[in-house]
Amino acid sequence: MDTIISISNINKTFGNKQALKGINLTIKERSMTALLGPSGSGKSTLMRHLSGLVVSDRDTDSHISVLGETVQAQGKASKQIRQCRAQAGYIFQQFNLVNRLSVLTNVLIGALSETPKWRTLTGTFTAEQKQRALQALQRVGMEQFAHQRVSTLSGGQQQRVAIARALMQRAKIIFADEPIASLDPESSRIVMELLEDINRKEGIPVIVTLHQVDHALKYCEQIIALREGEVFYQGAAAELTEQKLKALYTAAKPQQE
Ligand code: ADP
Ligand code: MG
Repeated sequence: MDTIISISNINKTFGNKQALKGINLTIKERSMTALLGPSGSGKSTLMRHLSGLVVSDRDTDSHISVLGETVQAQGKASKQIRQCRAQAGYIFQQFNLVNRLSVLTNVLIGALSETPKWRTLTGTFTAEQKQRALQALQRVGMEQFAHQRVSTLSGGQQQRVAIARALMQRAKIIFADEPIASLDPESSRIVMELLEDINRKEGIPVIVTLHQVDHALKYCEQIIALREGEVFYQGAAAELTEQKLKALYTAAKPQQE
């Protein structure tokens, strides 16, 4: 089995706060993986490391690779960081779309890394790219909104456009950081089912941070749980016991100093 993500010896300190403490993780399955943990446990920080948006503290042993490419080593972004970013699609809580542009143009932004610079400057995409963008919108059930401005869409619809952008990008992996945190229950269900469907049919691994445990257990086969910057659990969702879950979300352990 191929390794999707490999993380070794990652420490990250902000000022005097150690956000990640010696993280070691390997993900081998292509199924959906939920990243769980209380607020402040380090989920977003860890996810940002996977794209090189954040680099770890300097450490000669630290290493992160995604789909076989080194993203960072020894606290420095790798030389292949551009390729690494180009192969990862991102979905954020706040949608990260360009509000004043059309839905179609926002999806086309996913094609920027495959487009020569002069074209991106003049904003001209090829007919083939536009066709693919429409197909991506169709895949997420949003083709009828193609020529509307993003600002006219609901949160759930915007999140589907963000997923279409990742498909346009031909992302080989999807990182979603709290994709449903701002959505109502019905939109949350649609977005999670869409991610699940894309994971199953297109075979794209999805790593998703969630603060709702029930969503993680319903949609994700694997769970990684962080607590106070440390890996608290990694394994099958089916094997995560009530007791373990309760311990994950109980108050911080007392400092022993
Ligand atoms: P989570 O996503 O699990 O809620 P985060 O990864 O956002 O947690 O944060 C983990 C810890 O690191 C928190 O204590 C947070 O305040 C701190 N932190 C994260 N990013 C920064 C930053 N850029 N500057 C300072 N502290 C940060
Ligand atoms: Mg977070």
